[in-house]
Order: sequence, then C-alpha cells, then structure tokens
Amino acid sequence: MGRYTGAVCRLCRVAKEKLFLKGERCFSPKCTVEKRDNSPGRGSKWQSKPSDYGIRVQEKQKLRRMFGVNERQFSRFFKMAARKKGVTGEILLTLLERRLDNIVFKMGFANSRPHARQLVTHKFFYVNGRKVNIPSYLVKEGEVIEVDKNKIDKLKRALTSEVEREVPSWLSVEKKHFKGKLLKFPTGEEISVPVDEKLVVELYSR
Ligand code: SF4
Repeated sequence: MGRYTGAVCRLCRVAKEKLFLKGERCFSPKCTVEKRDNSPGRGSKWQSKPSDYGIRVQEKQKLRRMFGVNERQFSRFFKMAARKKGVTGEILLTLLERRLDNIVFKMGFANSRPHARQLVTHKFFYVNGRKVNIPSYLVKEGEVIEVDKNKIDKLKRALTSEVEREVPSWLSVEKKHFKGKLLKFPTGEEISVPVDEKLVVELYSR
C-alpha cells in the first residue's frame, strides 16, 4: 500500500487520538481533534461498534500512522520484534522509537515526524560522523546524531514550532550545538503512545 497523501488531521480523527503529524498546530487549540470529537465521514451516531478484530486493526493503524510506517515496513518491524527475546509489544515500540526520523523529532530538530522524515531524506543529519538519509535507520545505543553544519541556518528557519517539547530521559540533546545522543534503548514504561500494543501483537498472532 502506498504512502497516505491526504489530509493528515483526518487520520487523527479516524483514530480518535492525536497522532502529532502536523507540528506546532498539534500542540495548540487549533488541533482538529481538540475542536471536533466525531470521526470523519458519516456522523458518529451511524457508526457501529467495531468488532474485536476491528479494534485490533485500529490500534495497529494508529501506531503505523503515528510513526509514518507503511504496511510492509510495519510487518517487517513486527517480525523483527517477534524474533527477539522479551515482550514482543514492548520490543516493537522500542524498534519504532529507534527510527532515525523519530529520534530527530524527539530531539526537537523537526516540527513533526513527517517533517523529520523529510529532513533525514534531504541529508540534514550525521550519525556518528556518517551522513545517513534513511528515515528507518535504527539508531544504536551511544550513537550521536548531529545536524550538518552547513544546514543549521536552513533548519533554524524550518523550525516553526515555539512549543518546548520535553526530551525523553533516554536521549540527551545539546540544542546549542545541534546534536544529541541515544543514551539507551527506551523500555516499555518510558514509551508513551496512545496505543495498546498488546492488541497489535494479538492481531499478528491470529
Ligand atoms: Fe492530529 Fe496534529 Fe492535526 Fe491535531 S493538528 S489532528 S494532532 S495532525
């Protein structure tokens, strides 16, 4: 399935959750989810209760859309998680959090994950001194992410959000020097996403 190119706020309305796909607007009262509480399309009173299967699909879609991952990549991530020892759902979330585009967003070097993805593709970042332009690159513990010095001014102009986002404890950031480090892989309790990952695991285990 191709990448979704429609209005991203619609995805949040379908998910009935804020997926933070639009930068500054997501943190303001202008956010569509905050303003409207019904799903797109027909009025909510016409929508029947989803089946157990439907609920699991919805949880998977939320997670996938939040991290901007297509079906094929998501299934690859799930297989990787299932092969590792431990709780599959938690490992899946950790893998998604380790994506370079997500880390760039969490470090505050992009307005949103889609913006981070674009910047990574346009070669704005070095990982341990090596230019990486693959958004799905999985950052390893101790790796340093640094903005290309020649692109700092361009990045400053692109950073429109004035909201100071909190940097998670598993990352360290030197905002002044436009660089940061993945200190350790995040664990389940350090990851907060509005998704029940256990339902996603159940969906793939059917
Ligand atoms: Fe989702 Fe952001 Fe749009 Fe709100 S503003 S509906 S969080 S993409």
